[in-house]
Amino acid sequence: MSRQISPREHEWFERMVVPVSQFPPDSFVVAEVRSSPNFGERKSKIDMLLLHYTGMPDAGAAVKYLCSVGTEVSAHYVVLEDGHVIQCVPEAYRAWHAGQSSWGAETDINSCSIGIEIANPGHDLGYPEFPRRQIAAVIALCRGIFTRHEIPPDRVLAHSDVAPGRKRDPGEKFPWRLLHESGIGLWVKPAPIVAGPIFALGDRDPAIEELQRLLARFGYGMSPSSYLDGTTRDAIAAFQRHFRPLKVDGVFDVSTLETLRSVLAARDQARAQATAEKVLYPQPVNS
Ligand SMILES: [Zn+2]
Repeated sequence: MSRQISPREHEWFERMVVPVSQFPPDSFVVAEVRSSPNFGERKSKIDMLLLHYTGMPDAGAAVKYLCSVGTEVSAHYVVLEDGHVIQCVPEAYRAWHAGQSSWGAETDINSCSIGIEIANPGHDLGYPEFPRRQIAAVIALCRGIFTRHEIPPDRVLAHSDVAPGRKRDPGEKFPWRLLHESGIGLWVKPAPIVAGPIFALGDRDPAIEELQRLLARFGYGMSPSSYLDGTTRDAIAAFQRHFRPLKVDGVFDVSTLETLRSVLAARDQARAQATAEKVLYPQPVNS
């Protein structure tokens, strides 16, 4: 019995029958290793997970781009729409995915983070929903990473969090809540959007300085000034994209402030719990 193989099946078979690995994958979730030349030595310990979308119409082209000499970009992992996980850089090395970015006092985000590119064409190309299979693969991959590295929940971040002025990925459709429910990252129920004072670009008010202090306390790069400048607007939008995705407008409203306060409280609680657990269950010295 024979039948015609469709181009899509052909592409799938091609992908599945190339078991050549240039380095052993760090995770059993990895289906394929496609080595990228774009990496270097880490300058600090891994304590952050950074999630991206590829922002290209074709996932195959995105993988090719990340693995090409001269593009100067890469990521540790790429998760395709069907859940196929490709590793491009070993976790021990510094991949080049964050670009100009910062979180708190840290400006070398590539050195302290593991970068995961999630295939999605992004905001400029229709921004489709992330398929369930793809998210299931991201969850499995992240959970594995947590067994190898100590990454606090508040340091599972979006590219847009560390580069609010330049980036929007993985965007407001990314299911952060589902990840949190699977033990990955911080999430709180967003405060309802209600009527109340709002401040937008160009406004000046002491309340803005309070919001800026809280945003900076979480990690967003900014200096409190009580003036709602472009940097503040972009950080508000990045925060909304991650934690209050129903309305992403860069406008300071009551819901954004309340949600930010809850996120900081959840972070402080998670940190206190982690410290207490370390006292109760110390890790073996050689772990
Ligand atoms: Zn990105």
